[in-house]
Amino acid sequence: MLTAAQATELVLQHRLSLPTETVSLTEAGGRVLRQTVCADRDFPPFDRVAMDGIAIRFADFAGQPAGRPRTFRVVGMQRAGQPQQTVTDAGTCLEVMTGAMLPVGTDTVIRYEDISIADGQATLQIDDIVEQQNVHKQATDRRANDELLSVGTLIGPAEIAVAASVGQATLIVSALPRVALISTGDELVGVSDTPLPYQIRQSNTYLLQAALKSLSIRASMYRVVDDEDLMAERLGKLLAENDLLLLSGGVSAGKADFVPAVLQRLGVEQRFHKIDQRPGKPLWFGTTPGGKTVFGLPGNPVSTVLCTYRYVMPYLRASLAMTPEPVTYAQLATNYTFRPALTHFLSVRLTNEPDGRLLAHPLPGSGSADFANLLDTSAFMELPADQSAFKPGDAFPIWKTV
Ligand code: AMP
Ligand code: MG
Repeated sequence: MLTAAQATELVLQHRLSLPTETVSLTEAGGRVLRQTVCADRDFPPFDRVAMDGIAIRFADFAGQPAGRPRTFRVVGMQRAGQPQQTVTDAGTCLEVMTGAMLPVGTDTVIRYEDISIADGQATLQIDDIVEQQNVHKQATDRRANDELLSVGTLIGPAEIAVAASVGQATLIVSALPRVALISTGDELVGVSDTPLPYQIRQSNTYLLQAALKSLSIRASMYRVVDDEDLMAERLGKLLAENDLLLLSGGVSAGKADFVPAVLQRLGVEQRFHKIDQRPGKPLWFGTTPGGKTVFGLPGNPVSTVLCTYRYVMPYLRASLAMTPEPVTYAQLATNYTFRPALTHFLSVRLTNEPDGRLLAHPLPGSGSADFANLLDTSAFMELPADQSAFKPGDAFPIWKTV
């Protein structure tokens, strides 16, 4: 059987290669960037006034005798959005507004809070003025042609703002995969149905649909019964119409677990079946010669969640050409023991402590069918197979589910 690390490697090896598409800036949030975005000019593009007040020449300030209030004659106003003005006479100043060009002949800005203005004269209330204060010098943030956004970035509000500021009305992003979410199981009914005593409402595809939304992927949902021929017919069609199938249920050792056999019949090549882990051991993964992918997730809700966040989401991020994020670690809050020699994904609740530590509190639970436990789970902590006693403070990778 495969280790979690080996399974990860196989999954990532078979990521989809998705084409690019161009979308408008208003549609680009939550998508993955496939172009670089560079500064079209310096940031800021001119010496920018950073406070409302007056602009002076520092030498004029330094030249006035200390000990009594220093004064400047106000000769005009430079507002944001106006062409740059010039101060020529010594001892004069312009009122300036935040965002304006610093007037030619000035180099220092003094806030309104530190002056008083009467009869066209500004009188300084303070003495400690530093040359170039409150001036945001041209190109101090970025230079023209500097790369601002790189390929593989998940586009968030800050990236949108930067793209807008350099005149990028459209962005090239990864096209989204066509994904079908399929529940299998004779016991499953729809969310609006009233289950008979031996039935349950299907929930896994809703979970998957919600998780995929975080990558802007809109997936459609289907339900099939445990019948090999019917399943082959439905899956054959869905395979033709989609890039990725995410199945739930039917991959364990039960007599009605037909998914691996049906997929094989449809020409999907099994890359692995089963991982040395708990929960989620029966995970099935395969690909077609035409480059499509199928995950067969175990049906137990906790297994489905674990496999989604541990394998499917990294697979999708890689398929979208997103730059991999570093693994997140947390420290165990309590002692914990797990004897079987397999990777254990422990359901934990995370807390941020005042001293800065991220602590993982193991949740008591009754295994992979413990549905309600999911509500308290904020992550799975990946405990290695070769260790059975874990101490408070031990750090391990975590896979967040929120
Ligand atoms: P299976 O993997 O098909 O053996 O299913 C394992 C357990 O998960 C069974 O108790 C199923 O009823 C349950 N299950 C399977 N599919 C779903 C689903 N879509 N939503 C909720 N529970 C499910
Ligand atoms: Mg089943």
